[in-house]
Amino acid sequence: MNSSIKNKLKNIAGSRNYFDSEEDKLCYSYDATPIFRTLPEAVIFPENEMQISEIMKLANEEKFNIVPRGAGTGLSGGAIPVENSVVMVMTKWNKILEIDTNNLTALVQPGVVTADLQKEAEKIDLFYPPDPGSMNVCTIGGNVANNAGGLRGLKYGVTKNYVLGIEMVLPEGELLKTGGKNMKDAAGYNLRDFIVGSEGTLGIITKILLKLIPKPLNFVTLLAYFDKLSDSAKAVAGIISSHIVPCMMEFLDKTTVNCVEDFVHIGLPRNSEAILLIEVDGRGSIVQEDAETIKNILAKNNASVIKTAGDITESLNLKTARRSAFSALARRRPTTILEDATVPRSELPVMIEKVTEASVKFNVTFGNFGHAGDGNLHPTCLTDERDKKEIENAHRAFDFIFNEAIKLGGTITGEHGTGLAKKQFLEKVAGSAGIEIMKRIKLSIDPNNILNPGKIFSISPKCEEYAGK
Ligand SMILES: Cc1cc2nc3c(=O)[nH]c(=O)nc-3n(C[C@H](O)[C@H](O)[C@H](O)COP(=O)(O)OP(=O)(O)OC[C@H]3O[C@@H](n4cnc5c(N)ncnc54)[C@H](O)[C@@H]3O)c2cc1C
Repeated sequence: MNSSIKNKLKNIAGSRNYFDSEEDKLCYSYDATPIFRTLPEAVIFPENEMQISEIMKLANEEKFNIVPRGAGTGLSGGAIPVENSVVMVMTKWNKILEIDTNNLTALVQPGVVTADLQKEAEKIDLFYPPDPGSMNVCTIGGNVANNAGGLRGLKYGVTKNYVLGIEMVLPEGELLKTGGKNMKDAAGYNLRDFIVGSEGTLGIITKILLKLIPKPLNFVTLLAYFDKLSDSAKAVAGIISSHIVPCMMEFLDKTTVNCVEDFVHIGLPRNSEAILLIEVDGRGSIVQEDAETIKNILAKNNASVIKTAGDITESLNLKTARRSAFSALARRRPTTILEDATVPRSELPVMIEKVTEASVKFNVTFGNFGHAGDGNLHPTCLTDERDKKEIENAHRAFDFIFNEAIKLGGTITGEHGTGLAKKQFLEKVAGSAGIEIMKRIKLSIDPNNILNPGKIFSISPKCEEYAGK
């Protein structure tokens, strides 16, 4: 990118919002995905929609790329710069603009940190359920772009279940407003649902209208230890088939439990092969009744210890420990590759066996944890990117895991998105016709392919013909 374009960018955004020193570029050359890194040409913190629109128009004229970024906690490489790109950071857009207690909605800017919205809603007995493990850092904009899930997904769903409306600047500079406070809206194509999960490839999200729900008043948190991994998986299947829907049913294997215990020191069992962290919530005595039924199912499936959190502090400590699983595993080896294979819940026991098989077959170490109730596993490879052979083995192990997940009717990502890290697997789940349609949609909105190109898929010459290039 030449200095004349850089000067134009500085003029649009103002010099206080424009950075291109080597140090600044280095800080934005990666996200939380290991191994991928690319230096951008510049980093911009836009202040308003008009600036974003002008930068989009300049990118189309001068043919450079724009990579949207929230907090950079993504695990599929969505916010990693591409060649000849400017990173557009949205963290300063961090205002909760309105909480409407009549309609139970929140209007927020995309840079609002997820946990901040949750705290504000809970102050007035409302609830914003999506709770990614990264919720103290990640942004609502990043959550919408990746359709983030979290620990409470089993009962409450994922980000898309809470998005009512979106405003965003399209790649050619127009402002799109879609959705609103109506709980029902059947007018035209559902653009809102289409934008959720589009990973920063269709526009820069500038406002989000979210649904809030009443805060559950009661909850019980349970912890169960298992000597056999397969028993924990059977207990999960037993709870699901008992027609009780806990709000949380999280699984951690022995390696993960030991790393977490080294990190948080709360007395987790080091010798158990697996633990389940389960929470039921709701109103009144039904919560206690459900907890008792779950305890019986855990006992029938050979849980060696079943504990009930004594108070809110103990419950919070257990959930914080679970949320620290990734950080705790990351202390073990220099490189931590956390993946996101997801299978129908009934196939979880088989999938856990397949990860163990991959670990032995390719001689790599995995910690395993995840949202068991959703069938969403996070096999996490503890490795070292300086060791080429070991990294090659890790990649072969993940190929094996994704292929097995697909054979079981599963998918390559439950919540982290496709980004750069998994685009080579997308065709296996979306099919060639599915990918072709996605590319055509992308090019009809972004004909010069300037917004986060090469994420999710690469544009083929056939698609470029479609866009008239
Ligand atoms: C410790 C840890 C735990 C995690 N736990 C979970 C979990 O439980 N569940 C889960 O789903 N994920 C989890 N993640 C992954 C990650 O936190 C989520 O994907 C999150 O939604 C990313 O938000 P972000 O603000 O960091 O976005 P970024 O990483 O900055 O960006 C993510 C994607 O969103 C796009 N984007 C960001 N802002 C905008 C915008 N305003 N307009 C358009 N596009 C935009 C980017 O281009 C990119 O494609 C975890 C990550 C870590 C590091």
